[in-house]
Amino acid sequence: MGENKIQIKVKSGFIAVVGRPNVGKSTLINSIIGQKIAAVSPRPQTTRKNQLGILTVTNQYLNAQIIFIDTPGIHRPLHKLGEKMNREAIETLENNDLILLIVDATQNPDEEDETIINLISNLNRNIPVIIALNKIDLLNDSNIKKQNSFWKKRMPIAEIIPISAAMGRNFDELLNKIIALLPEGMHFYPEDQVTDLYEREIAADLIRVSALKILRDEIPHGIAIRIDQYSERDENGAYIEATVFVERESHKAIVVGKRGKMIKKIGTTARLEIEKMSSRKIYLRLNVKVRKDWRNDEKVLRRFGY
Ligand code: GDP
Ligand code: MG
Repeated sequence: MGENKIQIKVKSGFIAVVGRPNVGKSTLINSIIGQKIAAVSPRPQTTRKNQLGILTVTNQYLNAQIIFIDTPGIHRPLHKLGEKMNREAIETLENNDLILLIVDATQNPDEEDETIINLISNLNRNIPVIIALNKIDLLNDSNIKKQNSFWKKRMPIAEIIPISAAMGRNFDELLNKIIALLPEGMHFYPEDQVTDLYEREIAADLIRVSALKILRDEIPHGIAIRIDQYSERDENGAYIEATVFVERESHKAIVVGKRGKMIKKIGTTARLEIEKMSSRKIYLRLNVKVRKDWRNDEKVLRRFGY
């Protein structure tokens, strides 16, 4: 019998996942990768850094590595943090092999969607674009069709795929389309690697998300987390000490709460999230400190890795 040699295609590429806050970027990456690597929050602006979610798909015909980059979103530059995030977003777009624009199909496109669309239309390079119409679990078929034709007209160059990131709907179609558009080339990461973030960075993000969730609107975006210690305690546990930075004394009082009640609650919530992420026992200690104007301080921003 003659050997039928099938040429296995090796593909790999970077996918910029863009879209305004709260459309479901982190949810999508997490459910595709199957691990909690990007913080998901019912409130916007919890993903601040560009995080990687790596998926390697292997079958008898191909060997493809999809590297998702969760962008912090594109915001109007209200202060330095915003400007810096904007610059990063533009660079992120141009350095990638594919742009995956996530939109919330339950809402009409707003100013922020338009900002992103204009950005994509004005890039120096021609990069393929996929628009994922997310949250279709909340819509009926006729509304999905309406959204579909709206986006087709708005961005004729894009492929449009309705999905539900939360329910895992249409992931196959989405992944097949992504793989079809990926360039051929060697993989950048080992097959079993799912992210490039160190566990301590993920932990910092989970603490930030927990704090924002519990504080609600009391301290809008005014906190930063620094991990001061992250060490193995015994064979199945780790000890984490972290500092929550706030901008004002009055904010510190809110974060600490009456007799430390608030910070205790934040700590418990964060600890449970980190335990879920790392599958082991976590001992978490949180401190609260005032660092005036940290959001406008370049040095501080760099140290926190923004
Ligand atoms: P990001 O800011 O774009 O990263 O958005 P997140 O992934 O943090 O999601 C924002 C909110 O939308 C969260 O409360 C998610 O649970 C919710 N969400 C995300 N995807 C879906 C979806 O497909 N269906 C529904 N119903 N909710 C979703
Ligand atoms: Mg996010």
